[in-house]
Amino acid sequence: MLQVYNTLTRKKEEFKPIEKNHVRMYVCGPTVYDYPHIGNARSFAVFDTIRRYLEYKGYRVTYITNFTDIDDKMINRANEEGISVADLAARFIAEYYIIASELNLKPATVNPRATEHIDDIIDMVSKIIENGHGYVVDGDVYFDVPSWSNYGVLSKIPLDELSAGLRVNVGEKKKDPRDFALWKAEKPGEPSWDSPWGKGRPGWHAECSVMGKYYLGIPFDIHGGGQDLIFPHHENEIAQSAAAYGEKTPVKYWLHNGFLTINTEKMSKSEGNFFTAREVLDNYDHQAVRFYLVSGQYRQPLDYNDKALKQAIQSLERIKNAADTIRGKISILEKKGGRRTKADDKLSEAIKKVREGFEREMDDDFNTPGAIAEIFTFVRDINSLTPDIGNAAVLREALSTLSELMSILGINLEKAEDEAGGKSVEVLKGVVGLLLEVRENARKSKDYAAADMIRDRLKELSISVADTKDGPTWKIE
Ligand code: AMP
Ligand code: ZN
Repeated sequence: MLQVYNTLTRKKEEFKPIEKNHVRMYVCGPTVYDYPHIGNARSFAVFDTIRRYLEYKGYRVTYITNFTDIDDKMINRANEEGISVADLAARFIAEYYIIASELNLKPATVNPRATEHIDDIIDMVSKIIENGHGYVVDGDVYFDVPSWSNYGVLSKIPLDELSAGLRVNVGEKKKDPRDFALWKAEKPGEPSWDSPWGKGRPGWHAECSVMGKYYLGIPFDIHGGGQDLIFPHHENEIAQSAAAYGEKTPVKYWLHNGFLTINTEKMSKSEGNFFTAREVLDNYDHQAVRFYLVSGQYRQPLDYNDKALKQAIQSLERIKNAADTIRGKISILEKKGGRRTKADDKLSEAIKKVREGFEREMDDDFNTPGAIAEIFTFVRDINSLTPDIGNAAVLREALSTLSELMSILGINLEKAEDEAGGKSVEVLKGVVGLLLEVRENARKSKDYAAADMIRDRLKELSISVADTKDGPTWKIE
């Protein structure tokens, strides 16, 4: 039985989707104003693993994750760079897709953008005003927080405690410091859309209420994001959806990932203590980065340091080596044939145990470190039993089980092989190129014996060289 920790109730609860066999899930995606940092990537990776595990359990998952493509950060950055907000968004949405592919994130069912849903946002804001929970001041629209007694339901911050310490900033026209913007009147040089309140743009929180309802219907099952979004973003989302659409609990389970930290501090752009996902992925094996990002339980903090990444590289290497050990033994047995031995029975037992253990840990609020520990026990069993295995069938089952469980963590063991193969081809091309360069130099200095020897020895290795007017070419015969 799958148990998930629900921020709304602050308890682990049995997971039961609203519709049988179908999970509807929304995860707050990036604001596309800059390169995402590796902390953002943690959020993307853990929710991808949660989705993959739900699919493994047999659910169909509709997975929506948005792009925030209009807000203050977008406008400021576009102005700094002298480009339009739309061009800025296009650039970093493209970057997101590259990172998503390198981290092996499954494509979302839809990646909607805020600016594609302006009419729906206007519609929701109008409903909130009609229902008496929003008001207009000079083209701005605010949510009237004191009118919403359920405010604080997610963050557990009582309404009166909330007002302490808050001030209405100069230039803001809200009635109460706790109120938040649903719609912002146009300022010069900003992108804007027509609305019943004049030209303007949506406040940040509005988009997720609208797109969640549009693509999933409300109530839906899971809403995810980082812990920093509990307040105010998700608190405001509940208030908006409930006030507009009359659904008291628009989301059944609220899941929040812990922070990626550097020296126990949250990694963040504003604090300046961050590494971009791009630089980390450029410096480390992509699969090891993905493995590292899901190696901690998703609600706990995860520290970012070189040692942790090196450890992920080594751990992954051990798992891949076990897969190679199995493959090697399968090819020997395929040639020689063989009979079932005692080791075969033990490995069958280990296959059963790893699946059970993995599921037990993942059923406990997606406890990936526990699930990975089960995989390591299995790796030890593979290494000790494989030499004595008599029949390939059990090895094939061991390999497919290992691959299947690793794929829930976002690691494709088959792909690891392709990548290694791809790398060998690159190295081969480089080495042949280098030999041909040495041969050209030999020919230039009239050392024909050396030049011919290189050509002949390559021929022995099935690599034929042809001299063309554009220089030598080669191919494998
Ligand atoms: P943003 O682009 O800032 O809207 O963030 C995208 C996602 O990353 C959100 O779900 C954030 O809560 C999450 N996030 C931001 N910083 C961190 C961090 N240091 N560790 C984990 N998740 C984070
Ligand atoms: Zn959101």
